[in-house]
Amino acid sequence: MSDKTKVHCVRCRNFFSERIKNLRSGREANCPSCGRLIIYEEGSADPGIARAMTEARRMRHAILARPPQPPSER
Ligand SMILES: [Zn+2]
Repeated sequence: MSDKTKVHCVRCRNFFSERIKNLRSGREANCPSCGRLIIYEEGSADPGIARAMTEARRMRHAILARPPQPPSER
């Protein structure tokens, strides 16, 4: 499973990959294309950020909910 999701930059309209663990409220990043400062926060007014935060939360839950390896059946 990938540990990255796409973030949409509203300034340059490019997408870039960000690691799920970095997509937490209060974190900051710069768009690699235009250098725009991007602040990650839940419920961001920036739809590209809000979507990425939602996706990151969903993926974190999916990782946590993944069952342990079942014993191999004979
Ligand atoms: Zn950009």
